[in-house]
Amino acid sequence: MSNESYHFRRKPSELMQCVPYKLKENKMKNANFSDFKLNKDLLKAIGMLNYESPTQVQAQVIPVLLAKRDVIVKSQTGSGKTAAFAIPICQMIDWEANKPQALVITPTRELAIQVKEDVFNIGRFKRLKVAAIFGKSSFYHQEKELKQKTHAVVGTPGRIIDHLERGTLDTANIKYLVLDEADEMLNMGFIDDVETIIAALPKERVTMLLSATMPADIDRLCKEHMNNPLRIEVEEKNPVAQRICQERYTVDRTEKLDLLKDILIVENPDSCIVFCNTQVAVDEVSGTLSKLKFTCMKIHGGMDQRDRMMVMNDFKKGYFRYLIATDVAARGIDIEDISLIINYDIPKDGESYVHRIGRTGRVSNTGRAVTFVTPDENAQLDAIENYTDKKIDLKGRPKKEQVNEQRAAFIEKTSTAPEIKKGKSTELDKEIMKLHINAGKKTKMRPVDIVGTLCNIDGMTADDIGIINILDVSTFVEILNNKGEMVFNVLQDMPIKGRMRTVSKADAN
Ligand code: AMP
Repeated sequence: MSNESYHFRRKPSELMQCVPYKLKENKMKNANFSDFKLNKDLLKAIGMLNYESPTQVQAQVIPVLLAKRDVIVKSQTGSGKTAAFAIPICQMIDWEANKPQALVITPTRELAIQVKEDVFNIGRFKRLKVAAIFGKSSFYHQEKELKQKTHAVVGTPGRIIDHLERGTLDTANIKYLVLDEADEMLNMGFIDDVETIIAALPKERVTMLLSATMPADIDRLCKEHMNNPLRIEVEEKNPVAQRICQERYTVDRTEKLDLLKDILIVENPDSCIVFCNTQVAVDEVSGTLSKLKFTCMKIHGGMDQRDRMMVMNDFKKGYFRYLIATDVAARGIDIEDISLIINYDIPKDGESYVHRIGRTGRVSNTGRAVTFVTPDENAQLDAIENYTDKKIDLKGRPKKEQVNEQRAAFIEKTSTAPEIKKGKSTELDKEIMKLHINAGKKTKMRPVDIVGTLCNIDGMTADDIGIINILDVSTFVEILNNKGEMVFNVLQDMPIKGRMRTVSKADAN
């Protein structure tokens, strides 16, 4: 293992109170994505995702991966670590090859979906196909997707192993392996599965491991499966626990629901996650708030995967203000502009505290976190304060008059529809239209038939055609560069492979 490493020194921890934070502070001054000599299709996508300049972790990791060196990265959540591996991988992938070239392993399904979206968005104009494979979701559909040309696969350990065992994931051409949130995979008991997967991969490959901590098992994994890795540790100048305004209330267990209602009225947040330690508590809190007509939804591990995804998506879009959650929503999940985190139950340790409060003050500028502590939980509070090296301010419970004073503003906000947030890929999506054609493999449709037809349309070239996905009885094709509407209209009267087809507009994802 190499001793080489990069460190960015942390400023002596300052007790910062509610000071606005900008992701920019975490950016490399004067560095530019074009310095990495990236393909123009990637630079275009990066620009449209509004990544102005590389973050610290990106500035360090991108050149190392582009030089095909193994790398171990320790960095904070919200540091731009996904793009740090997604950009070089998208750059190095050979579009022509049909078998998957990159495999990203993540501990949770939510993270797999999010990483898939990030890789897909960055590789959008290079027309990269990215599949997400995870449990409690149709194996059959995943199998079908993997049978087609696939450049990158993002998945959770159990489902990746299922595909390996059934021969539906071909790893012979994997050149890039990413182990994302490796310490969490260890915590969740996936480490043996990860080793089984690694054993099925070619030895000639570039491996990147991301982990917030380096327990002995992860260190061993690195020694056994990585080749002279470079260690990169990026400590933010202003780590999560220092930049978020944190307060606590002492409260009896039986008083928590009343305190929660008062805090929600007084704080009146635009968006808020209320964290509980158990599924039962989530059900109870969300049941009570719903009865009081708060626009809230819940998420926990006992729920169906489909429902979990729907709730997360709706929360990201801002359809409702309050999400009541267990820790399933605390890790890695990237939602912009959450104004307030409430720890209805104090988290079990410092690490999970930091993950929870790290959901606020991400790309947005400020963050606030409030923690309820019962009189018998002082030991946990001490442990958290030691972990973050910061005292959490004790606040007095809001007085009745204060709650009443704020009630009108609260009612006004809750009776106005929340502002719907733009997705990260809105700019990208504007340029791209996905069309559905009602013909597929069963009618012997091939990519060349689609390309041939589209290139015969005036003003269209091969560069305007994105990903083509041919299924049994349907075909999806992306039309780039704002030409979707025009192509859609022309195809209403133009035969494809000798026959008129029904062509309609499809959802972007
Ligand atoms: P991550 O640490 O990968 O969860 O990323 C945190 C957030 O930062 C995500 O919303 C990214 O889309 C965003 N992001 C990543 N890189 C940049 C960048 N260079 N500039 C601005 N935002 C970025």
